[in-house]
Amino acid sequence: MTNSTDGKIIRLSQHLNLDEFTYSITAIRNKIDNTLPQSLMPNARLCAEMIFEPVRALLGGIPRTINSGYRCQRLNQLVDGSPTSQHMAASAIDIGMRDGENIYLAFLKLLKAKDFVFDQLLIEGVSASNPLSGWLHASWNSLNVRGKLDSGFHPNAVQRKDVMIVTFDTEGRKSTRSVTIAEAIQWAENRLEKLNAKRKA
Ligand SMILES: [Zn+2]
Repeated sequence: MTNSTDGKIIRLSQHLNLDEFTYSITAIRNKIDNTLPQSLMPNARLCAEMIFEPVRALLGGIPRTINSGYRCQRLNQLVDGSPTSQHMAASAIDIGMRDGENIYLAFLKLLKAKDFVFDQLLIEGVSASNPLSGWLHASWNSLNVRGKLDSGFHPNAVQRKDVMIVTFDTEGRKSTRSVTIAEAIQWAENRLEKLNAKRKA
């Protein structure tokens, strides 16, 4: 890893280091250099400050790992990321759940936090067979024109507060739905109810 200067830890925000933001087991296994380009540093810092820190605080202020932060183009292809993934602009972060942590409750906390501003919030990887699997993807738009990945520092870029639900059915088929915040709240409460009913049964 060449993200550290002389082994010095580079902090993006109070609780997130650059190494954590660029770490990828897939990159290591495939010998891909996933070093963050210097030009994307402002985006990474904004993502850490505006997304990671508020999410961390909202979800109990406890240390948590991130599944994916920055992805270079090759890495993004390898993990089957969207061709316009905000991970490539160092503007998105996948927040992993802690052991036994309920992803629906976590999702609800973020959806209901009125002052949590984001560009996109996705609940991803939730499968029918394992309702507690998955992670939360959240992004901060720091691009001038959405979908354009040439970075640039745009602190006043519009945050859309888009919400999407990505699920897998029992056959592993992926479904992606764009929903309103109210619909997402209803969906998560529904799932939570079903899960609790199953536990009591
Ligand atoms: Zn993601």
